[in-house]
Amino acid sequence: MKLIALPAFSDNYLWLWQQDQQAVVVDPGDAAPVLQTLAQHGLTLVAILVTHHHADHTGGVRALHDATGAQVFGPAREEVPAPFTPVMHGDSFTLLGQAIQVLDVPGHTAGHVAYVLPQAPQSPVLFCGDTLFSGGCGRIFEGSPKQMLASLDLLASLPSDTQVCCAHEYTLSNLRFALAVEPSNIDLQTYTVQCQQRRAEGLPTLPAQLGTELQINPFLRARHPDVRHAVAQHAGLSALEQTDDVAVFAALREWKNDFK
Ligand SMILES: [Zn+2]
Ligand SMILES: [Zn+2]
Repeated sequence: MKLIALPAFSDNYLWLWQQDQQAVVVDPGDAAPVLQTLAQHGLTLVAILVTHHHADHTGGVRALHDATGAQVFGPAREEVPAPFTPVMHGDSFTLLGQAIQVLDVPGHTAGHVAYVLPQAPQSPVLFCGDTLFSGGCGRIFEGSPKQMLASLDLLASLPSDTQVCCAHEYTLSNLRFALAVEPSNIDLQTYTVQCQQRRAEGLPTLPAQLGTELQINPFLRARHPDVRHAVAQHAGLSALEQTDDVAVFAALREWKNDFK
């Protein structure tokens, strides 16, 4: 099993999961780089997985479906621009010999789903769309901070060796914010240097490791005393608000929204 991050637009990755001469693509916002890779390696596309309805994740679905006949799976509560098999929390199915589990992770969009391959050969694989990024999380467009926190808690409960396949290369800008929140976090400092080196070499910073994210990602650490304290200081939270996980998380997300 091979995972390939195909760059698209300014910072998207279309994840191609290859097994022998077959492939599955996740969130193809653009069909062209996928078709090119399929042709280049002589691969057959068997399925398209969609995490949420945004155009940078679905723009190539129709063209890929029409060109290859690949089966499309997408969130039951959202629109996908091709005939698709709707999936929701608790659903499971098999592709390329791998079991896939569906998780509901609302917040970025109302019906956002994630796909987990719990028995992938090296370690579990997570396709999380725009819910979790390395060092950050998606903006809350359609859901509430409470929903987003619950979605991130769910993803954080996966095995720590899970490979996190995020849909955008936002890592370095996320880490600048993370360092503003937790300037003394040694793991965060070390990881930032590693990611800067990878980007300098033109390599993706992804997949991320979930265990690392738990050490460095402020949005997975919103209950950590250091993060809580920094957010309380920045947002001027009352003593009562500081004890409210959702209030702290919401203020953290707002801080990031305004961060330059
Ligand atoms: Zn999105
Ligand atoms: Zn996106």
